[in-house]
Amino acid sequence: MRLLEERIQKDGIVREGNVLKVDSFLNHQMDIKLFREIGKEFKRLFANEEITKILTIEASGIGIACIVAEFFDVPVVFAKKSKSKNIAGAVYTSKVESFTHNKVYDVIVSKKFLTKEDKVLLIDDFLANGNALKGLIEIVKSAGAELIGAGIVIEKGFQKGGADLRAQGVHLESLAIVDSMDDVTGKINFREQ
Ligand code: 5GP
Repeated sequence: MRLLEERIQKDGIVREGNVLKVDSFLNHQMDIKLFREIGKEFKRLFANEEITKILTIEASGIGIACIVAEFFDVPVVFAKKSKSKNIAGAVYTSKVESFTHNKVYDVIVSKKFLTKEDKVLLIDDFLANGNALKGLIEIVKSAGAELIGAGIVIEKGFQKGGADLRAQGVHLESLAIVDSMDDVTGKINFREQ
């Protein structure tokens, strides 16, 4: 998505450790006009699919998922990062290793909000090693729901998540794929799509 790539070039900051900072428009301050274009694009890419629910993970996926959900006219559910060790039976759980915080979280979704009738589109801001998406996929499976696909705003194509998930047959659509980035020069190269 050209508009998104231009914005990443203009305002993205490449940090040490393969971290791309886009907090001026994507996951701290949020540019809602851009989010609307992102929503429109996901609607185009998944136009032929029946979707009943959007599933994301807190915190940075929530804002994007809400705008995307307007285009599909469905509810958003976000997986919560749980700190409690005793998780009640009324939730689906999975473990997610966080790329940015270097921690393992239990993530939970209430059984009330995801059922075997659901057809689920996953939405997140970034895809790196794929742990967040794999955790969400496990939750979809536990619910007996159908996974329709995953929409990612920025995929870091030099990390393994995207390749793993495509190899598993997941319909994955990433609006910008960064093939390489350099924290010294700040240069970011995108994959032609
Ligand atoms: P994964 O689970 O695919 O390794 O990482 C995805 C999650 O880590 C996303 O939910 C996102 O919040 C965070 N993340 C991964 N890489 C980056 C990055 O380069 N920049 C930012 N801001 N977040 C990232």
